[in-house]
Amino acid sequence: MSYRILLLGAPGAGKGTQSEKLAAEYELDHVTTGDALRANADMETEYGTPRSFMEAGELVPDPVVNEIVKTALSNADGFVLDGYPRTLSQAEYLSEVTDLDAVVLLDVDDAVLLDRLTGRRVCDDCGANYHVEFQPPETPGVCDDCGGELIQREDDTKETARERLEVFVENTEPVVTHFRDAGDLIEVDGEGTPEDVFERIRDAVEA
Ligand SMILES: [Zn+2]
Repeated sequence: MSYRILLLGAPGAGKGTQSEKLAAEYELDHVTTGDALRANADMETEYGTPRSFMEAGELVPDPVVNEIVKTALSNADGFVLDGYPRTLSQAEYLSEVTDLDAVVLLDVDDAVLLDRLTGRRVCDDCGANYHVEFQPPETPGVCDDCGGELIQREDDTKETARERLEVFVENTEPVVTHFRDAGDLIEVDGEGTPEDVFERIRDAVEA
């Protein structure tokens, strides 16, 4: 079944993990803004190519991102979209250019999100990812793969994580409202194991 699914949720809600599970289950393309931009870096738009902005170290402007995402979606035979739309105008654009089968919002309590975000550790040498609670290394603070030191990224400290969540709520509230008003929004409890959450999403999508 070629579903067209949009996955929404805060940082730490598990969008990446669940997108991969959905893509595997239904043989869908996992479309993220970053991947779509890299894959279409030389696509000409009215405003220039994505590469011209990325190489200048500038944010790729909304109209360019919109066009790239539209291209990635129209090339896909079913997709799960993750990390887009981030603003109301992007959400309105998305509704114009594609017919979504399901918009799933992963609902996770703020305290749980903070736990998940601040528990992340990354290997300073090889970049492998760990979590002190959900995916601990064999020896605390040491990478299983290469023996490197595990560090906490600046983004994952409590203060930064809190800021990221605030920015998310501010930007995404209008996006959520847009899809709720359109009658497309399905809220799924995003707490528990990745397998439990996936079962809930699958039931919601197939319902
Ligand atoms: Zn390592």
